[in-house]
Amino acid sequence: MCFVNNKETKRRIVLLGPPGAGKGTHAKDLGEALRVPHVSTGDILREAVKQGTAVGLEAKSYMDKGELVPDEVMARVILERLRQKDCAQGFILDGYPRTVHQAELLKEGLKKVSADLDVAIEIGAPADLIVSRLAFRRVCRNCGATYHLKNIPPKVEGRCDQCGGELYQRSDDEEQTVRRRLQVYEEQSALVIGYYRGQGLLTTVDGALPRQKTYAQLLEMVGVFE
Ligand code: AMP
Repeated sequence: MCFVNNKETKRRIVLLGPPGAGKGTHAKDLGEALRVPHVSTGDILREAVKQGTAVGLEAKSYMDKGELVPDEVMARVILERLRQKDCAQGFILDGYPRTVHQAELLKEGLKKVSADLDVAIEIGAPADLIVSRLAFRRVCRNCGATYHLKNIPPKVEGRCDQCGGELYQRSDDEEQTVRRRLQVYEEQSALVIGYYRGQGLLTTVDGALPRQKTYAQLLEMVGVFE
């Protein structure tokens, strides 16, 4: 049972941290607790690739290599999503911004609708833990639920507990691409943390803890009390 204080609860939230830190898992839970959408740019792009849209065709080659999709493409993707009605009361951003330029574009885009971010939360986790988490990660092709073959295995091998969909390994979760994604994170996305620290918006939680403990820290940061 969660207690949400409407005045003090933060609802325009950015989750930061390396791939595999748990942003997607926590963003989904947090979105449900706060009743605001979980906006994952990775999910939006994977869907665009699947549908073969212009954005999908442009993004695919970068994604396959673990590189960042250009900021201009991402600005279109994110601003279009944030303009949708369900984001009016808030959102949990997962995977955006990944460069300081993206963070600036986000600030400008929000300003146009007289809004600003409430908080940027970094989920920290060491590189070794991340490589192992992603190597064992499996995702449901149907509903997007994630599993860890050792820590959170599905009840039936290869099948999603929630919808029975097929589980697969994201091609960019293979070890070589994971290492490149981590390198890209260190080179570019870590600067975003400094940017939000400078704006007085940054807080940090420990992503190496067991899932429920990290989540409890997150709830406290956004002003939800269990
Ligand atoms: P994710 O699911 O967040 O790990 O994203 C998967 C891939 O999508 C990344 O490795 C990038 O190629 C691309 N991507 C997602 N979000 C962004 C972003 N904000 N900027 C650039 N590329 C992105």
